Amino acid sequence: LLLVVFAFGKTYIVGTSADFPPFEYVENGEFVGFDMDLIRAIADEMGFNVKIVDMAFDSLIAALASGNLDIVVAGMTITDEREQVVDFSIPYWVADQSVVVKKGSGLNITVLFGKHNVGVQTGTTADLWVEENLVNTKILTGKFKRYETFVFAMTDLVNGNVDAIVLDSPVAEMYAKTRPVEIVGIIKTGEEYGIAVSEGNKELLNLINEGIRRLRESGKIDELISKYF
Ligand code: GLN
Repeated sequence: LLLVVFAFGKTYIVGTSADFPPFEYVENGEFVGFDMDLIRAIADEMGFNVKIVDMAFDSLIAALASGNLDIVVAGMTITDEREQVVDFSIPYWVADQSVVVKKGSGLNITVLFGKHNVGVQTGTTADLWVEENLVNTKILTGKFKRYETFVFAMTDLVNGNVDAIVLDSPVAEMYAKTRPVEIVGIIKTGEEYGIAVSEGNKELLNLINEGIRRLRESGKIDELISKYF
């Protein structure tokens, strides 16, 4: 008996935090969303395989840096701080921050000032923005609440336990379509999402960048946008 084993390309472990629709979420036990389809399409295009694993958003960078993950795709903004520990692909999305309140609360953008309570998802760019611009400056004098996922934050918002949530605009817009919450302001951060690999992994980064460029040219990215937005 002769066994011939063909190697159909490497399998890379992709970390995400599947609680961020429409970028990543779970549906019928599958990881779906724009980011999930994007990384699978890049893998198909460039000839590698992916295995997606789910974890808390604020542990993704550490998992990548320690070698437990090869790739992170999680609606993750390219920041200088993160760039020091991991490497990012060319940007594939641009987002701002939205200020979200409970529908009918009568609150407006001034909810970010004074004695209001404001919530964010821990470890995100919203967390950093509110801390730097509102908490450290004492513009906000109420409570600053950090939640493990934005959905927990939204639940507290709807229950009246927090006055406003700051969250990436595409995710906030999608959420507000079907829930009793509304967007009362936009913070124009113009932040860019990138796919992260461990620091110095040039080979993989080049594959990912080339994949993004090809999918842009082929119209596949536009197709994913119409599918999820
Ligand atoms: N884009 C934001 C960040 O990178 C939020 C990402 C997320 O919650 N998945 O911090």
